[in-house]
Amino acid sequence: GAGAAVRTTRSTCPYCGVGCGVLIDSVGDGDAGAGAGAGEVGPRIVGVRGDPDHPANHGRLCTKGATLHLTATPLVRRQQRLLRPAWRPTRGAPLQPRDWEATERHIAGQLLAIRARHGPDAIGFYVSGQLLTEDYHAFNKLARGLVGTNNIDSNSRLCMSAAVVGYKQSLGADAPPACYEDLERTDCLFIAGSNTAWAHPILFRRIEAAHAARPDMKIIVVDPRRTETAEFADLHLALKPGSDVALFHGMLNACIWEGWIAPDFIERHTAGFAALKALVRTMTPTEAARLTGLGETQILQAAQWFAQSPSTLSLYCMGLNQSSSGAAKNTALINLHLATGQIGRAGAGPFSLTGQPNAMGGRETGGMASLLPGHRDPGNAAHRAEVAALWGVDALPAAPGKTAVELFQAAADGEIKALWIACTNPAQSMPDQALVRAALARCELVILQEAFAGTATADFADVVLPATTWAEKEGTVTNSERRISRVRAALPPAGEARADWRIVRDVARRMETVLRPGRPSLFAWDRVEQPWIEHRESTRGRDLDIGGLSYAMLEAAPRQWPWPEGASAAKERLYEDGRYAHADGRARFIAKPFAPTAEVQDAAFPLALSTGRLRDQWHGMSRSGTVARLFAGEPAPALSMHPADIARRLLTPGSLVRVQSRRGPLIVPLRADDSVGPQRAWLPMHWGSEFLGGRGQCGINALTQSAFCPDARQPELKFAAVAVEAV
Ligand code: SF4
Repeated sequence: GAGAAVRTTRSTCPYCGVGCGVLIDSVGDGDAGAGAGAGEVGPRIVGVRGDPDHPANHGRLCTKGATLHLTATPLVRRQQRLLRPAWRPTRGAPLQPRDWEATERHIAGQLLAIRARHGPDAIGFYVSGQLLTEDYHAFNKLARGLVGTNNIDSNSRLCMSAAVVGYKQSLGADAPPACYEDLERTDCLFIAGSNTAWAHPILFRRIEAAHAARPDMKIIVVDPRRTETAEFADLHLALKPGSDVALFHGMLNACIWEGWIAPDFIERHTAGFAALKALVRTMTPTEAARLTGLGETQILQAAQWFAQSPSTLSLYCMGLNQSSSGAAKNTALINLHLATGQIGRAGAGPFSLTGQPNAMGGRETGGMASLLPGHRDPGNAAHRAEVAALWGVDALPAAPGKTAVELFQAAADGEIKALWIACTNPAQSMPDQALVRAALARCELVILQEAFAGTATADFADVVLPATTWAEKEGTVTNSERRISRVRAALPPAGEARADWRIVRDVARRMETVLRPGRPSLFAWDRVEQPWIEHRESTRGRDLDIGGLSYAMLEAAPRQWPWPEGASAAKERLYEDGRYAHADGRARFIAKPFAPTAEVQDAAFPLALSTGRLRDQWHGMSRSGTVARLFAGEPAPALSMHPADIARRLLTPGSLVRVQSRRGPLIVPLRADDSVGPQRAWLPMHWGSEFLGGRGQCGINALTQSAFCPDARQPELKFAAVAVEAV
C-alpha cells in the first residue's frame, strides 16, 4: 500500500550458473512463508538489485537478472503459473483441478501399483538443474531410498555430464579447481565452446574489466561461430564443428615438439603421459589443421600462448559438453593443462562453466543416474552401503540407472511405465523430439511438477503438481565456482503451489505406509534445512566436505566448498599442493583419440546445424518469456546461414525456409549472417512448439539428435546435419 515500507530479501538469481546474488525489494504485509495465494493481496515485489556483497557479481546483474521482478508480478503469477494440482480422469480428458490430499493419494497409489506390477525400475524420475539442493536430495532419496531404483536423471545430463566425467577421469574428483577470481588473475584465457558474453554475461563483464585493467592478457576463443565472445578475442579459432579433440591434441603435439611442456610437473604429479604422447605423435599441427580447418600458425600460436603464459585458465561449456565425444573433449583440454603445468595456481586451471543455476548441487547430492550423494559412485558397493547407512535404509539398488536419453528410450520401448518430471520441459528441451513424445505418450503415468502452466510437457501429463519458484522458495544452490548461496522467499506461494521438496515428502510419506510399514519415516522433515542437513552429512570426509557449514553461516555469506568441520576459510583453488584426488595423488593423462561427430554432412544433409543461447532468453522461456523487454533484441527465432550458402540455394533472407534433419522438419525465417561459417547454420534453442508450428509440433529439437557420448551419456545437441530449402 501507499507509503509501505520496502523490505529487502537477499537471494540468488535463478537463471544461470554464474549464481549472482540479488536483493529483492518488496512491499506489503504478510509473511512470505504463509500461503496467502496469488493476487494483489500480500507482499508484492517492486524491484530487484544486484547484491553488492555477493562475490559472484559484486552488485552487477545482466538483463535477465535485472528483470526478475517482472517475472513475479501479480499478473504473471495469476496467468502464467500452475496454481492448483490437477489430473485427468482418463487419458485425453482435460486436466481437472483436485486438492492436494486427493492428488497425493492418487499418485502414491498409482506409483505403488506400477511398482508392484513391474518392479521399481519401471519408474523413472527426470529432474532439473534448476531445482534447489534440498529438492534434489528429496527426489534422490525417494527414487533410490524408497522406490528402489537408480532411474533418476536430470536435465543437467544435457548440460555438464561430460564435464563431470572429464574431471573424474583426469583429476580424480568432480571438482572444478578454479574460481571466478582467476578471471582477474590469469594471463591467458582459453575459452572453448562457450559464448560467455551471452550465456554467462556477468562473468564476461568481469573478463572485459580484467582485460581493460591488463591489456596484455591474451584471450583465445575456440568456436565455429564468430560470437560476441569470439569478437573480443586476440585469437579466434573458428574450427570445424566437433573437431575440438584434434585441435587440443594438435596443440599438445606442438607443445611437446617445441619443448613447451613442463616435464617436472608431469613427473611429480601425473601418470599416463607416455601413452598420450604416443597417441598425439601423429596429430601434428599440419594434421590438426586439416581436421579442424584452421591454419597451422593459428594452432601453433594458441599452443604457445597456452603453454608459455605465466598462467592459463580455460573456460568451457556446452561446445565441449554437448557432444558424442564430450568426455574426450574435456579430458583432451585437461591434458593440456597438466602437460604444461597450468593448474593449481592462481589464474591457471581447467574451469567448466555450468549452464544451470544448480547443476552443481545436483552433482553434489548425486541426483543423477551415474552419481550418488557426496560424489559417490552407484557402481561401488561400499559407496552404496555408506549412503544406505546415512539414510537409514537396508540397501540401495545396484542395477545401473538410466540417463536422460535412455530414460525416454526405455519409456518409448514400454520398459519404463511411469515418469515423474520436475522443473523441466522435456517435450521441448530434449533432443529428437519425435522419440521423446512417443515415450511420454506410451507411459502409463506422467507426473509433471512445475511452476509454470502450459509447457509442452503438460500436454502429456496425467497429473500436474504446482511448484513454487524463484522469490517463493527457500533453499540453497551451488554455482560454477563451488559457491553455495541461499535462496530465499520474498512472496507467499502462488495459488496452492508448494516447495518441490515438500511435494516429494508428502507423496513419499504415503508410499512409506505400504513400503516401510511401522518404520520411522525417511522424510521426517518440517523445515527446508532438514533435507539440507542430511545432504551436508553425506559430504563428510569426501572431497566436497561441507561438514563445517550451516544455514546460519550461509545466511551471513555464500561459501565455497570444501568447508569441513573446523575450517575457517574456503579453499578457493584446489590442488595447490600438487595432490590430486586419485588414490595415488596423481592426475591422469587420458589418451582418447579424435572421433568425428555422430552424424556427418553429406549431399542430402549438407549443413552443420548448431543450437545455442541468446543473451536475453533462458531455456524454454517459461520464465524469461514473461518479460516483454527481453524480446526486444530477438523477437522471433531465425536460422542463421552464411550469405554465400543462401545465394547458392537462391533463398531470400527474411523468407521462411524448411530445415530438415534425419529426424524431422522445422519451418523458420532465414537470416543472412556471416558469423556462421560456410556450410554451417545456427538456431537459438529457446523456441518450442508454442512458437513454431503450434501445439503438436516439436520446435527446434525436432532437428537435434540423441546420439550421446559413451562415457558421459550426454547427447550431441551441438551438431545435426541438415538441409535447407525454400517453402
Ligand atoms: Fe542471473 Fe546469470 Fe545474469 Fe547473473 S549472469 S544475473 S546469474 S542470468
